[in-house]
Amino acid sequence: MIPPIASRFVAGETSASAFEHARAANDDGVSVILNLLGEHYDDRADADADAAAYEQLVADIADTDLDACVSVKPSQLGLDVGDDAFRANFRRVVEAGREHGVFVWCDMEDATTTDVTLDAFETLAREFDGGVGQCVQANLRRTRDDLDRLVDVPGKIRLVKGAYEEDSDVAYTDKADVNEAFRDDLELLFRKRDDGVAVGSHDPAMISYAKELHDEYGTGFEVQMLMGVRPDAQRELAAEGYDVWQYAPYGDKWLSYFYRRVRERKENALFALRAIAGV
Ligand code: FAD
Repeated sequence: MIPPIASRFVAGETSASAFEHARAANDDGVSVILNLLGEHYDDRADADADAAAYEQLVADIADTDLDACVSVKPSQLGLDVGDDAFRANFRRVVEAGREHGVFVWCDMEDATTTDVTLDAFETLAREFDGGVGQCVQANLRRTRDDLDRLVDVPGKIRLVKGAYEEDSDVAYTDKADVNEAFRDDLELLFRKRDDGVAVGSHDPAMISYAKELHDEYGTGFEVQMLMGVRPDAQRELAAEGYDVWQYAPYGDKWLSYFYRRVRERKENALFALRAIAGV
């Protein structure tokens, strides 16, 4: 069972608990992106099993009236086994999403995976004319060029700052440079797309900038934040009428995800310490 301390960031171990969480978020006006925790499988059977779990998950979401979609990880769907395994499993999940009317996002992992991930996304997004979205990372030096390629691809693009440690030859490593790239990339997305822009950030400055860009270009956009991070802001933005999606992971592989959240920010670590101390 997930201890209360981790349940701020993880929506339980089962899809039933994740649905319960999604229901509560929906009641606050916040839609939910469900992610079954799992990554870096080196056995094809594990990747196939998670692809099958996602097929079932989208069918189950469609049986409810929840505002929910899913997000997969390339290495969860077999990328470490081989490109073909990933492509085949990604296709399975997107086809199931198509059949059941449930949107499918793909997370972006480290920079060695960018090419194959974007190729797979573009193929599926063009073939199915949407229904699928791709995360891109502003910290990568290549992303500006990738966006030039992706701006007219159907579906959605989620811009994030980037969570992976990368070498300085492929990525901006200074925070100010990442923020500047994020702004430039966001401006390009709003200027060139009519809709389908997702701002994957908790940064108030970036969310304000997205609102300004929306006023200027009229582009449809959504704000995406992680479960447990700035929950008040999520509710407030939804109450103001913005389209807010919360990325909510669930599953039995929650421990490493929880540690990542605690390590990455002082606010999250303080929350964990307070929970342990009972204050
Ligand atoms: P930061 O630069 O970390 O912080 C900027 C400001 O935001 C802070 O000064 C503070 O005001 C506010 N803030 C940030 N965190 C907190 C907090 N815990 N509590 C209170 N205020 C806070 N990365 C990937 O590499 N691949 C992915 O596929 C991916 N998917 C993601 C999906 C979603 C929905 C989200 C939200 C993030 C995703 N990320 C992904 C992670 C992302 O790359 C960043 O590492 C992460 O979002 C932190 O950057 P930030 O823009 O939120 O703000």
